Amino acid sequence: MAKNPPEDQNPATRLVTGGRRSEWTGPVVNPPVWRASTHLYEDSAAQQAGLHVNQDGVFHYGARGGPTQWALADALTALEPGAAGTMLYPTGLAAPIMALLAVLKAGDELLVSDNSYDPSRTFAERALRDYGITTRFFDPLDVEGFAHLITDKCRVVLLENPGSVSLEMCDVPALAAAAKARGLVVLLDNTWAGPTGFQALKHGVDLSILALTKHVGGHSDLMLGSVTANAEWYPRLRRHSLMLGQQASPDDCALALRGLRTMGVRLERSCASALQIAEWLQSRPEVAAVLFPMLPGAPGHELWKRDFTGGCGLMTLVMAGKDLRARDALIDALSLFGIGYSWGGFESLALGSHPERDRAIMPWPPRGIAPENRHAVRLWIGLEDPADLIADLERGLAAWAAA
Ligand SMILES: *Cc1c(COP(=O)(O)O)cnc(C)c1O
Repeated sequence: MAKNPPEDQNPATRLVTGGRRSEWTGPVVNPPVWRASTHLYEDSAAQQAGLHVNQDGVFHYGARGGPTQWALADALTALEPGAAGTMLYPTGLAAPIMALLAVLKAGDELLVSDNSYDPSRTFAERALRDYGITTRFFDPLDVEGFAHLITDKCRVVLLENPGSVSLEMCDVPALAAAAKARGLVVLLDNTWAGPTGFQALKHGVDLSILALTKHVGGHSDLMLGSVTANAEWYPRLRRHSLMLGQQASPDDCALALRGLRTMGVRLERSCASALQIAEWLQSRPEVAAVLFPMLPGAPGHELWKRDFTGGCGLMTLVMAGKDLRARDALIDALSLFGIGYSWGGFESLALGSHPERDRAIMPWPPRGIAPENRHAVRLWIGLEDPADLIADLERGLAAWAAA
């Protein structure tokens, strides 16, 4: 929806008010699940007039979405100051893919931060290569090095902040300024903090990407993605996404809208518990490093404090030496943390990670951590009582020590 909310609403209020237009909700609080492919017209004249209307908020055919999808898109746009509109996709992964396809053409060069979500990397390296687009990876912590990499063929930069799994914080405004000075379009995967934790467009980003599967959905029961764009890029993003047949299910959008209403309080709880748990883990000899930018003293904390107003309970532990067997013993000894992919739900998760497999130039372990400390556990902190989670992790650390 090409409409911005009144500037005087704070994000917590926008989470409640966003997308609830009376023409979509009727007399009830939530927009009903509007399942539709076919629009029935009064007569041929109305059908023929309808063909010429192609805008958000005017129902024409299910492939262009209906009120349930528009309400979610509208709510997400309202959360991102500077945004002109939001497109929705059936998975989080489809969001960076569609954003890239909307802004690139054959012969272009793409720069991708080396700590990006690995399926985004794979898409850039393999699928885009077949379309005649060259991808180069760069270290987002080296702003000067990045500026020197930009050639006349570079068209787009894809950032992710903090980085996937390794959670390094980069200087988005500085990277965006260097990119803009050479005419590049700036894309950012903002899934970790989301729009309430980091105002991407206000920090120089043109298209902000979210995996709504994570804490917008919030209940581990849906797949969905979004891209929110500024006025310069939204029309092109919309045109390309519809041309490529992208639309999201109204049922999943209704669930995501419901998730959005409570996302603020869920994130507050998850962040508070994660901070408490991260502080406790940092004091443990079994743990060499806690990668969690919200934690004072952790890598990237100063940039987080400068640019962010929130985050989420996703962190990575670098274990002190030992081997993968010990790492897995830790995870297997946990009973409250499920072992599984994704994150952002109400329940805690733990997963063995291998960041070294998904990077071309950035070191693993990160700079400042001794090379023997390399085995990683990713933790998602859900809504359980943090004391119970700490007790569970205590059992995990004992199993690690015994392994
Ligand atoms: C999970 C994730 C995605 C992909 O989302 P799916 O809904 O799982 O496809 C994209 N980017 C980031 C940063 C993610 O964490």
